[in-house]
Amino acid sequence: MARRIKFFDTTLRDGEQTPGVNLNLQEKLEIALALERLGIDYIEAGFAIASEGDFEAIRGIAGALKTTSVVSLSRALEKDIDRAWEAIKDAVSPRIHTFLATSDIHMKYKLKMTEQQVLENSAKAVAHAKKYVNDVQFSPEDATRTRPEFLYKVLEGVIKAGATCLNIPDTVGYTNPAEYTNFIKGIMENVRGIENVDISVHCHNDLGLAVANSAAAAVVGANQIEGCINGIGERGGNAAIEELVMLFNTRKDYYNFTHNIDSTKINRTSKLVSSMTGIYVQPHKPIVGANAFAHESGIHQHGVMQERSTYEIMTPESVGLSSNTMVLGKLSGKHAFVSRLEELGVNLKTNDEINAVFGKFKALADRKKEVLDEDILALVDYTNDKIAKKYELVSFQISSGNRIINTSTIQLKVDDEIITKASTGDGPINASFKAISEICGYDNLKLVDYTIRAVTGGHDALGEVNVKIENDGKSYIGRGISTDILESSILAFLSAVNRIV
Ligand SMILES: [Zn+2]
Repeated sequence: MARRIKFFDTTLRDGEQTPGVNLNLQEKLEIALALERLGIDYIEAGFAIASEGDFEAIRGIAGALKTTSVVSLSRALEKDIDRAWEAIKDAVSPRIHTFLATSDIHMKYKLKMTEQQVLENSAKAVAHAKKYVNDVQFSPEDATRTRPEFLYKVLEGVIKAGATCLNIPDTVGYTNPAEYTNFIKGIMENVRGIENVDISVHCHNDLGLAVANSAAAAVVGANQIEGCINGIGERGGNAAIEELVMLFNTRKDYYNFTHNIDSTKINRTSKLVSSMTGIYVQPHKPIVGANAFAHESGIHQHGVMQERSTYEIMTPESVGLSSNTMVLGKLSGKHAFVSRLEELGVNLKTNDEINAVFGKFKALADRKKEVLDEDILALVDYTNDKIAKKYELVSFQISSGNRIINTSTIQLKVDDEIITKASTGDGPINASFKAISEICGYDNLKLVDYTIRAVTGGHDALGEVNVKIENDGKSYIGRGISTDILESSILAFLSAVNRIV
């Protein structure tokens, strides 16, 4: 009989530890709602005690989700667990996830604890969490570098204390499929009470094996897999959930699993995470990269045209890429637009939200002949940015060239006042950034990152600019889209400055 695999998403906790990623409450909520629609079983929404922002985000998500379990991470400390409970208590099915390192190297250098202390503290933490909630997950951090005999004792202790799920993390991305499966089997054979709890795996991708290790562990008996959308995370990232889902779906003959994921929502979820985090996947990334379903060589193209399955092991439609070639243009009405939004899995709740995006769509359709699905999704993500907009762009005028001084004149609406400033710079973008900094009264703004990408192909493609700026040692990201890359750049910079406010 097919075994049920549960997916535990940690995009908002482990994924948010990706360098440069800093999501606000609204963005986290958007992602959590998308994860729920995708069919994720557990969402680790953050680390409640880490910051006020994390706490509020977890609490907001716990109150908003209707079916998915909401989890907060906590160290094996009473005050952490208390705070985790405060954050998740409104969730439909709350879970506390507590952890303590068990490898010699972590116990000695990081925790400065003896084996006995780790044994006692882990069981005590689970028992404390259990006072609040029935569903308690425990992770022995750095499990794959822990001596098995000691690990078995720790796991037995936390099961006795009431843990319902044991997560066996490969914290440093060190193991391989053969070794990891033996390790999991060892736990299943030697830990008393293990048959009554879920076994979870959490793999890092430092050596490129996170997905392979997770899938192998599931085959021998793990029934929860942790990962992140697009495989984001610290260092080499976490196991990519979309890759695992499509591996299980495509190779049903080998992996006899069922799960709750609706794979047709993968593309939308991936795009949302990219645009919210500013971390875009490489074109050849499996499942969600721009080239994942593109056939370039003539032999392949010919084969696919004759019979798709010659070179195509899964269809673009199965991950939610539309095969629909009907494009929208400036004559498309609101009705067609709204029905396309629905097909794309975009849930705009209010008429105001729909009208705002439809207005942007009309403006774009005046400048771009064919408006593609990717354009619409980019517009939705950009328009939905709920940051209060103290500074709004009214107009800009730029003169640039290789033999003149680059000058940018920017006109902004600041609250209810219109302010105009001109500035010169090394290039048109630099000049614009300086003019905006001056209007907004920030003289120490630093532009630390600037990326630009075309949302679709073609000469009239939308250009999306992502920037990261620093003010007083804190960093802020901003995003702008337009068919004019200078305008995108100015909008991105403004969106970052609005975040400081
Ligand atoms: Zn991790």
